[in-house]
Amino acid sequence: MISRAKKVSDYKELNTTLPVTRYVDPETIYINLTNNRCKTYELNVEKGDYIRVAQIIGERSGGFFKQPIYSTVSGTVGETVKKHDGTGVEAEFITVKNDFKDELCRNVVDRPDSVIDAFTQADFVNIVKEKSIIGLGGSGFPTYIKLDTKEKINTVVVNAVECEPYLTSDYRLIKDTPEPVIKGLIYAMKALNAPEGVIAIKKTKIPLIEVLERELKRFKEYNIRLAKLEDYYPQGWEIETFKNAVGITVPIGELPMKYGIIGFNVSTCAAIYEAVKHNMPVVKRHFTINGDAINFPQNYRVRVGTNVRDLIKLSDGYVDDAKQINFISGGPMMGVSMPTDDIVITPTTTSILVLKSTDYKEEPCVRCASCVYSCPAGLQPVQIMNAVKRNDKTALANLEAKNCIECGLCAYVCTSKIHVTDYVRQGKQLLG
Ligand code: SF4
Ligand code: SF4
Repeated sequence: MISRAKKVSDYKELNTTLPVTRYVDPETIYINLTNNRCKTYELNVEKGDYIRVAQIIGERSGGFFKQPIYSTVSGTVGETVKKHDGTGVEAEFITVKNDFKDELCRNVVDRPDSVIDAFTQADFVNIVKEKSIIGLGGSGFPTYIKLDTKEKINTVVVNAVECEPYLTSDYRLIKDTPEPVIKGLIYAMKALNAPEGVIAIKKTKIPLIEVLERELKRFKEYNIRLAKLEDYYPQGWEIETFKNAVGITVPIGELPMKYGIIGFNVSTCAAIYEAVKHNMPVVKRHFTINGDAINFPQNYRVRVGTNVRDLIKLSDGYVDDAKQINFISGGPMMGVSMPTDDIVITPTTTSILVLKSTDYKEEPCVRCASCVYSCPAGLQPVQIMNAVKRNDKTALANLEAKNCIECGLCAYVCTSKIHVTDYVRQGKQLLG
């Protein structure tokens, strides 16, 4: 076994150098019927029905859109259950007993390049909509809505920055399979008639830069360049990425499309490619398990619908000396604290951090202003915190608490170890 590392940077290093484990599928898969954007659904299968991979088994509904629900395995439909998804809420899932035959739905057929070359924006939009492609970096926003913009787009940006500590699934996806990411970018450029593509990446990720530079030589007819960015947090925040990769500052609260830019996460680009070329929805994804409370941190290529508990067993379980364990879905800065490891991986679940609990005590604010100096959104977190304590909505509005991107930096830097970000989140909620 590889000995466990000690520092956060070592964990990132460990996971990027280890090959991805291609996980043997579990016996029971959980297909999400609801999610944080879609609260209702209709099923068109019943308990006992046989279903195939990439078969539509129902439809979920959000406030302004609907999404087909796809099976990610072949097997037999079981019960409907409630479980946590990676957003921290309890969602409804339907279980499928995996028959391990991987029988594909009949409509999963490749499209010839000549057909794709003739596609209009509407064709790309319809495919991406029909295949339920959403922001796989965690946002879950429907990709077809972004692709359907009527704004003139000059640059499509792939955000490959992955700036949070511990997270490496995008890194491994690019390293192992750069082609789907680049082709997904090309499809997005074609859909939007965009003359330029940019892959934004930290300049410290040398192995990835080498892979991408080599791969891009095969696509010389497209105007795609790498933007090698500085290594700091939150470089991956979309506004920061656009500013440094394209040189355009998008004001907070405005749509980047208005400024001729559109951005997609690495996994989302690969999913666009799979949908357009292979007519496939998202049935697998890269997933990171990391942290000091797990014996064997690593990346997996998992079936969507896998329970995190199954992967924790495969990662050799928890370390013996972990008295109490914290689970975080996503990164340590922006992730969501989870009450359990009984979590189902949905298309937007990128990672789980398994960390030993550390006891620390909050002290009174010493007015050091570290939180103010650190805020990338230019806010005054300490003042927002004080306004929350007073329940002062007018002050919260004046302090523009709604512009917080929940990056976690104010809590990270706080001299007094105050959970400042939690207060700012509360402030956003108070503003409605
Ligand atoms: S979490 Fe804190 S530092 Fe980050 S944007 Fe919000 S207020 Fe600013
Ligand atoms: S960083 Fe912490 S201690 Fe310093 S002003 Fe902000 S809330 Fe107060």
